[in-house]
Amino acid sequence: MKDVKLEYALKNGKLVSIYEVEKGLDCGCICPHCKEPLIAKQGACREFHFAHLSGNICELGYQKSIHLLAIKILNECKEITLPSVPLPIKFSNHTFSVIDKTHVKIDHIETEKKVNDIIPDLIAYINGRPLLIEICVTHKVDSNKLRKIQNSNLPAIEIKLSQNKSILSEEEFKKLLIYETHNKLWLNNPKANKYYEKFIKASEKLPLYSIDDITHAKNCPKQIRYIENEYYANLYRDCVNCKYSLGFDAGNVYCNYNTKLFSIEDVNKKLEESC
Ligand SMILES: [Zn+2]
Repeated sequence: MKDVKLEYALKNGKLVSIYEVEKGLDCGCICPHCKEPLIAKQGACREFHFAHLSGNICELGYQKSIHLLAIKILNECKEITLPSVPLPIKFSNHTFSVIDKTHVKIDHIETEKKVNDIIPDLIAYINGRPLLIEICVTHKVDSNKLRKIQNSNLPAIEIKLSQNKSILSEEEFKKLLIYETHNKLWLNNPKANKYYEKFIKASEKLPLYSIDDITHAKNCPKQIRYIENEYYANLYRDCVNCKYSLGFDAGNVYCNYNTKLFSIEDVNKKLEESC
């Protein structure tokens, strides 16, 4: 990441911008992370920014300031656009969307609250239900936290707020946080997980076999490989890149070639027929 400068600091417990304070030590600000006194640098040639009085290079100060800014803006605006929710298929070449992009009202925001052994950056309550929000400035959610989130049965998104240019106005920041969706990623969505289970149930199962120590799916409807009078597909070379594969587990590949499930309606119909 580019060397980004601290533009927001705490003054009497409130988040303030470099543009709304006095110059130098008179700004009366402290670092949101380490709480050291800051100097407001408002020179003519260089970009305005806060520097630690001690000269300390405090990497977490910037990250913490962006978290606080996000919380402040969400608290003020009380709305957010959520990206469409893809079917959580194990292969990346699928684009099923099970829930469309939506713009929602937020009832209220909570921070530093533990739910199901997870402390998300913030929790937004929408129609009384929690949505966990992780703010990504320099680091994505680590794998341990991600696993906990995915086991939680709670919806969660990650919002990427790192920037390529060091100065981002509050308006630009607000656009990125509230309205944009390209920078928002679903970490978990219980509704989509449920749809995925249905897709798996309704799809065709191709049993996996090891042939010469390579995993193959038997009865590949695309008839990709012909081995000893049977049609197969190589799991990692063929199925993983095949647009009809919905995923696999230890025993089967879930194949959509014959079942042609391209919407929730298709799946429900198929499951009704098989009942
Ligand atoms: Zn600091």
